[in-house]
Amino acid sequence: MASIKLWQQVGQRDPFPADPPRAVPGCPACLSLAVQRENAGSALDYSGVTDANIRLRAHQAEDH
Ligand SMILES: [Zn+2]
Repeated sequence: MASIKLWQQVGQRDPFPADPPRAVPGCPACLSLAVQRENAGSALDYSGVTDANIRLRAHQAEDH
């Protein structure tokens, strides 16, 4: 019999982490994404803010 895992038994990534990622001091890529997020936020562009957060998380997961 094939083994079937229930959804709850498989580790899930939290799609909406509580805290926004922080720029790592001294990293120009982090700084650029953080500035992009600030600009989007000040223009009330919240999808832009989310976008920058996703890019910042991906960058930090890959490059740090
Ligand atoms: Zn960085």
